[in-house]
Amino acid sequence: MESTIAAISTTVGESGIGIVRMSGKDSLSIAGKIFEGKKTKNLKDAENRKITYGHIFDPTDGSLVDEVLIVFMKAPFTYTREDIVEIYCHGGIISVRKILELLLANGAVMAERGEFTKRAFLNGRLDLSQAEAVIDIIKSKTELSCKLSLNQLEGGLSSEIKRIMDELTEMVAHVEVSIDFPEEDFEEITYDELELKSKKILDEIDNLLNTSERGRILREGLNVVILGKPNVGKSSLLNSMLRENRAIVTDIPGTTRDTIEEYMNIDGIPLKIVDTAGIRNTENIIEKIGVDKAKNLLETADLTIAVFDSSKELEEDDYEIINMIKDKKGIALLNKMDLDSKLTMEDLKKLIPEMKIIPTIISQKIGIQDIENNIKDMFYGGKVKIKNDIMVTNIRHKKKLIDAKKNISDAYTGIISKVPLDCLEVDLKNCWTNLGEISGDTVTEDILDKIFSEFCVGK
Ligand code: GDP
Ligand code: ZN
Repeated sequence: MESTIAAISTTVGESGIGIVRMSGKDSLSIAGKIFEGKKTKNLKDAENRKITYGHIFDPTDGSLVDEVLIVFMKAPFTYTREDIVEIYCHGGIISVRKILELLLANGAVMAERGEFTKRAFLNGRLDLSQAEAVIDIIKSKTELSCKLSLNQLEGGLSSEIKRIMDELTEMVAHVEVSIDFPEEDFEEITYDELELKSKKILDEIDNLLNTSERGRILREGLNVVILGKPNVGKSSLLNSMLRENRAIVTDIPGTTRDTIEEYMNIDGIPLKIVDTAGIRNTENIIEKIGVDKAKNLLETADLTIAVFDSSKELEEDDYEIINMIKDKKGIALLNKMDLDSKLTMEDLKKLIPEMKIIPTIISQKIGIQDIENNIKDMFYGGKVKIKNDIMVTNIRHKKKLIDAKKNISDAYTGIISKVPLDCLEVDLKNCWTNLGEISGDTVTEDILDKIFSEFCVGK
């Protein structure tokens, strides 16, 4: 980390301002070579954290490059814990690029992806899960997932992981003392004590893992599949939900030809909705998309919405659908309640007693709110308050937690069957190591490179 790095930190394109950032011990002197202030002639005189007005010149020919504001932030109280210089210039592609080029020509090197944040991590300003939160914040598509990442940046997850790691350290220390000095006078750790302690750790890891399901949904969206024979109102349902909740996200691939996939978000919960009969006027949806395909879709669904038409008696298609959804998580809609009834709530209830059935008139938007509330309940499980929640949203963290859980479960089983203490030690230490890969305490160079390569340049 001897080098001084530089990068454009804002999006390159037409914009009001652009920011070029430098970090490293030569930041100030490099910037000084291309900057001339109005009052502060020499940048070295610029006060720490004070904004200085001036101009950037190309030192090779003295030509004016841009009118800028510049700020010097002295280590160690900076993002990277190194000296930082930020130059606020005019946005657009020419000015920012030219300034970056000048910095590079005068001693800075181009920053790699995520290198500023990597330095913040390596210099101890952030732990690894906090550094990863930075990228998640940048990539957030909903307010809710952004909020969760902010919690992670604030250190919610880190402190929980560190706490569990401390408990493990204490256990290992106890076990080691008992192994090394069995004859000595202090109290040997008892198996009862070990059982309690390992059970506690197991529960704590489990609690974190349990949050990862919601974490996954926040990342990928809740998978909702709409089922129903033609003309029951599936497209109308999709459209009226979309009208109010259309997602900003449009670049998610995966749209198939025989289904329509739409993205939306309800109070911050991202949804991916698949309308199984995306193509209008197909005869039989089950035939069209194939029973297997429909079943596959249902397998991966977090929630199914089965739509029935109350103005028609049940037909073969409906029974087929009922068979498929019977034991799945989902809701059933009894639609077209404004028409003469051939199918009642009671009829349907008898066939799918476990399912929540909502009466709707989708064409008049009646029942839509009810459906959305049910989806929300489904996500929150009725009890979780997101605000201060620690939630595992990162797949890497989840995998490490699964490994750590395996270790502590093994230790726990061993304790129950009273295996010798030195056999436990390995599991406890592995558990610690796996948790340490979340916080970054035990992480390898390869993993670091991989994580930071997902960042953008300039962060
Ligand atoms: P899909 O084939 O399942 O996608 O059904 P559509 O959404 O295309 O709806 C078929 C027809 O039913 C359209 O003409 C809708 O306007 C109409 N429709 C949808 N919901 C209702 C409802 O609650 N009541 C009535 N009367 N008509 C509805
Ligand atoms: Zn349709």
